[in-house]
Amino acid sequence: MPAEIPAVPTATEKRHAWDAGGASSADALAAWVGARLAAHEAALAALLAVEGPRTPENSLRHFDEAIEQLNLAGAQAGVLNSVAADKAVRDQAQQQAQRVAMAGSALSLNRPVYDALSAIDLTGSSPATQHFVQRTLLGYRLAGVDKDEATRDRLQALHEKATHLSLDFSRNIQEGGKTIDAAEAELEGLPADYIARHPVSDTQGRVTLTTDQPDMQPVMTFATSAPLRERMFLAYNTRAYPANKQILLDLLATRQEIATVLGFRSWADLATADQMMGSARNVRTFLAKLDEASRDGARREHGLILDFARTRQPDLQAIDVTSRAYWYEQSRRSAFDFDSQSVRPYFPYAQVEAGVLETAARLFKIEFRPSAAAGWHPDVSVFEVVEDGRAVGRFYLDMHPREGKDKWFSAAPIVTGVRGRALPEAALICNFPKGDDNDPGLLQYNDVVTFFHEFGHLMHAILGGQTEWAGISGFATEGDFIEVPSQMLEEFFRDEKLLQGFARHYQTGEVLPAETIRKMKLAGAFGRADWVRAQLYYTTLSLDLHDQDPTALDLDTITRRLYESLQPWTWLEGNRMYASFGHLTGYSSNYYTYAFDKVIALDFFAQFDPADLLGGDAGTRYRKTVLEQGGSKPGRQMVRDFLGRDEEFQAFSKWLNEEFDGQPRALGSWPTSG
Ligand SMILES: [Zn+2]
Repeated sequence: MPAEIPAVPTATEKRHAWDAGGASSADALAAWVGARLAAHEAALAALLAVEGPRTPENSLRHFDEAIEQLNLAGAQAGVLNSVAADKAVRDQAQQQAQRVAMAGSALSLNRPVYDALSAIDLTGSSPATQHFVQRTLLGYRLAGVDKDEATRDRLQALHEKATHLSLDFSRNIQEGGKTIDAAEAELEGLPADYIARHPVSDTQGRVTLTTDQPDMQPVMTFATSAPLRERMFLAYNTRAYPANKQILLDLLATRQEIATVLGFRSWADLATADQMMGSARNVRTFLAKLDEASRDGARREHGLILDFARTRQPDLQAIDVTSRAYWYEQSRRSAFDFDSQSVRPYFPYAQVEAGVLETAARLFKIEFRPSAAAGWHPDVSVFEVVEDGRAVGRFYLDMHPREGKDKWFSAAPIVTGVRGRALPEAALICNFPKGDDNDPGLLQYNDVVTFFHEFGHLMHAILGGQTEWAGISGFATEGDFIEVPSQMLEEFFRDEKLLQGFARHYQTGEVLPAETIRKMKLAGAFGRADWVRAQLYYTTLSLDLHDQDPTALDLDTITRRLYESLQPWTWLEGNRMYASFGHLTGYSSNYYTYAFDKVIALDFFAQFDPADLLGGDAGTRYRKTVLEQGGSKPGRQMVRDFLGRDEEFQAFSKWLNEEFDGQPRALGSWPTSG
């Protein structure tokens, strides 16, 4: 008998790990990633084999193919690490993600490839092509490609170590869920459907709660019991402690060593060198502006909250970190006559999903059609993105908690789009409450904002997925531009007409009343200064951890000291938030991205006609000058192309102070003193 001939993979098996069995079989996943990496290597070999003068078509095309294969393998190994039902597959996915990251760091130090790209004649090529090559070469120099071989080997080993530590850090957070016990009476204040979902589980009348978002968040917001909030807070903030403490210290030391080898003072300087921000010093300048913009507002807010809390608890000395959200909620109810639970029946998951899709479709003048294509799990719904009758992309919605799935909310690329070569595909991995026969999965106000946020990322990946090269597709902007499209779309949630298009009571069908929306918006505006202070805290922490000698770092001291200098709330002993500060792996020193991009996003949003958000030409202009560019241009240029100038703080300050400059004062129901 002749040897069995392996089946030739079809085009779709090549594009999707799960079509090749990779979502349910660890071996199939490893084989799929292996095939992508082999294609990656083959493309690099083809690049190096080119003879004669190098052009974008004969050289950059091979390099871009190598990037495309690496992206494909990395994106899907990453997604399966977050979502695969089977632990063995998740473990394999983590190993494979690491394998892809190693290939990436080997590529970033590959001297012959660097020399080949440097030799490309860019005369007459498009600005996008020139930008791609120049940015790639800068990345190579920042990686240390021009160092001697021994130094490159050392850098490679350090990158591998950092990757390994980052994956362990994330994994410990993902799998480190805890549970706490509560007496039934401690659930007072929580929504009825929450209580119904958590029946008494033992003979002592105790209830078990997990640290997952849908269990944790309502406790922190609504539970009257301070001891319950405190137990939940500590469980949540120690879910990866103590394991992640040493891992983080090792990661910071490894990063600093990389920076030192490359001749940078700190990791923060290295990590900002190819970003819009440019240096750690510029980040500090930005933080000083943020501090100034938010200081007075935050002080006023804190005073109001404390005054209010004392009307309920006259002996209250101070409000601690575990009571912040609770007192904000209580004051909002009182001052704005707004109870955030009262709007939940208007936000059943399915309606919100339809509403977000409808908004984006109208804004960007595209259609979304349910697809027959398969995702990685039966819970995943798949949509084709259609424009003028043609498919231009595809997305996957994996929106509810599942055993073993990660607990966060994120958007992830699936297939990097390239014009004429590959349609862009992306996914949302979320943990919104899931409906069943008795419960339609009611979302909170913030959940809906999060949905808009993540959908903004998704649209960036899809609409930015028609670029000339994979290396400049979708998310391939500077990293510190990436939160602009997401935070821009969040703002659309504040529009009354738009909201009323989908917010209908799940039992009565009543449209969310305009008066409730007005109150909800006012109540939502209250607390923004505090939000900015929280961002300032996370941002400063992320910068400080990467901008000093890590051997002298005491994580507990620095997190506490910073908190106390930037936040008015009392620190809670035992808070180990650094051990579950997941953004430290991906963003490292650059958590400032959120606040910096918020400033840009609000300036962008101010270009839309408030009377007719979806009607004017701003949506189309924004799509063309920003989203469709992907990483074809520097972020700075995209800002100027859309605004006609650099971003300014004005829209941000207005947004920040809306609660005080707008109507809420007229409500007049703030208690003036305890
Ligand atoms: Zn985001």
